[in-house]
Amino acid sequence: MSLNLTVRQIFSWSIQLSVQQDYQALTHKFLAILTDIPWVENAAAYEIFQHERKKPGETDTVQELLIRRFPLDFTRNDEEVHNSLLTEIDHTTDLNLSAPDESGLYAWAIFSIRGGCGPDRAIHLEGAFDREMLELLGNLREVYRNLVMLHDTKERDVLTKLPNRQSLDARLLQVCEHYSDYQIIDKSQEKSSWIAILDIDHFKRVNDNFGHLYGDEVLLTFSQLMGKCFRYNDFLFRFGGEEFVVILNLASQEMAVSAFNRFREAVASYNFPTVGRVTVSIGLTHVDGISMPTTQLDHADKALYHAKESGRNRVVLYEDMPVLVQDKNPCETELF
Ligand code: GH3
Ligand code: MG
Ligand code: MG
Repeated sequence: MSLNLTVRQIFSWSIQLSVQQDYQALTHKFLAILTDIPWVENAAAYEIFQHERKKPGETDTVQELLIRRFPLDFTRNDEEVHNSLLTEIDHTTDLNLSAPDESGLYAWAIFSIRGGCGPDRAIHLEGAFDREMLELLGNLREVYRNLVMLHDTKERDVLTKLPNRQSLDARLLQVCEHYSDYQIIDKSQEKSSWIAILDIDHFKRVNDNFGHLYGDEVLLTFSQLMGKCFRYNDFLFRFGGEEFVVILNLASQEMAVSAFNRFREAVASYNFPTVGRVTVSIGLTHVDGISMPTTQLDHADKALYHAKESGRNRVVLYEDMPVLVQDKNPCETELF
């Protein structure tokens, strides 16, 4: 089998990859390029997270890999259906291979993508590869990895590694478009999405009393608590400063409010090293597929202001707020 690649082809790939504006678009394009190669039958991308899980009936938590297939389908909850091959391989090496067949060809290859401020990733390829092909794929992986790292720098927050404000705007638009396409507006159904702004209470005092470094440590620990409390198909962001955003998917109103209350309680009962107790106020609203994303963020913000105004360390649902308070501009609200 010959690689039969021209310089023109290689440049075309490089141009197609480097023109992509964000990680999502880049990864879609990379998978399309790979599957266009005649000797690649299948190409899939995964994101790999370490997470702690308590097995049923056991008290100790175990470290597990959480493997999310790209693109994440937030409309389905198939956490358990992941690629079993990926849980078994050695993620510390750059390339895992199947045993070669009698003609020396490999039926699958998994390339690791590590480094930078995003999660580890893996590209799983199926087909029939010889060593020369694997070298070419390895080079393509290098180009993709370098671009992923650039996009991560732009789209993720350096401290918490969470997607940043810019990524939120793109993701919220995508979620809203999904609901407006399907006109799913029934909040009581378990298939709704909710957007919440989470703002740490009196965080300025943490900085004032313990210094910025300890403040940063609280932000990092807070983001890790978010990772543990929310599900793999929820979207988490650092909005800026001590404010975070969660898009909670596949939940009814009741489930959403109780999920955010669970997180609020987890934060309030957590003993932050040196700093001690920290609380969070949360404002949330339904992602309805009708209002503009900016309006939904504004509603979550109004609910957050209401949570602050009514004593902090609480969760407020915009839809539960009295109409007069909903209409009030947060800037007119007396906070302090
Ligand atoms: P409230 O309960 O009303 O939210 O009070 P607050 O003190 O949390 O809110 P305020 O907006 O007055 O202060 C937020 C503080 O967050 C001020 C700023 O110094 C701090 N901050 C913002 N970004 C960072 C960061 O990246 N690291 C640290 N350590 N502090 C930050
Ligand atoms: Mg704030
Ligand atoms: Mg605050």
